[in-house]
Amino acid sequence: MRNINKNYSSLKSLAIMGGTFDPIHYGHLVTAEAVRYKYNIDKVLFMPAGNPPHKEYDKITHSEHRYLMGVLATATNPYFDVSRMEIDRKGVTYTIDTIKSLRQMYGEEIELYFITGADAIKEIFTWKNPEELFKLCTFVAVTRPEYYKEELIEKVKTIRNEYESKIHFLEVPALSISSTDIRNRVKNKMPIKYLVPESVENYIYKFNLYI
Ligand code: ATP
Ligand code: MG
Repeated sequence: MRNINKNYSSLKSLAIMGGTFDPIHYGHLVTAEAVRYKYNIDKVLFMPAGNPPHKEYDKITHSEHRYLMGVLATATNPYFDVSRMEIDRKGVTYTIDTIKSLRQMYGEEIELYFITGADAIKEIFTWKNPEELFKLCTFVAVTRPEYYKEELIEKVKTIRNEYESKIHFLEVPALSISSTDIRNRVKNKMPIKYLVPESVENYIYKFNLYI
């Protein structure tokens, strides 16, 4: 993989924030920053999905747009980066393959974290090889408005006990923002100001996304 000005060799910990990011919004950013700070993580890598197995392909914005909006949104945070790994991979992408590749690239020593919102963790057993995934990285399950915190805590406990996995629960600032809502707002000519970074807002309008 091409690396410009990115020296990852000295990293001790790396968190991956997976998602469609269609578009990236302040809910994603505040979550990633809360996790980074809490676990003293050296770098958070936003990983836009290429062809996500759980979403309908034709409804997703081109990966290059999603990647570039990620770059714009993370430009002001020195701890954040965006990866092309999944969008450049051909065919359906699975988290397990991404984590394995990152392990190969950065070695056995680096501590890998995977950040998932309350909705994503609920679906984790529909992912490919969840048990192996639990062995390869530490999960951080974060709260999300509209999803019950108690239910999330129970889920985390079950996974921890049944799979001997390293999984943390973390309450993050509640921002009731979703990409679906942003897409609907743009379509209906409603404001998205203060829901996404201004650079992302401008990008959406420049390229007529979501109309
Ligand atoms: P969509 O509505 O298209 O599904 P989304 O807002 O859920 O978009 P995703 O790209 O699907 O965004 O989510 C990526 C990750 O970020 C998931 O783990 C999801 O749970 C988490 N996430 C998204 N929005 C929030 C939020 N407001 N607070 C906490 N976590 C969030
Ligand atoms: Mg989602």
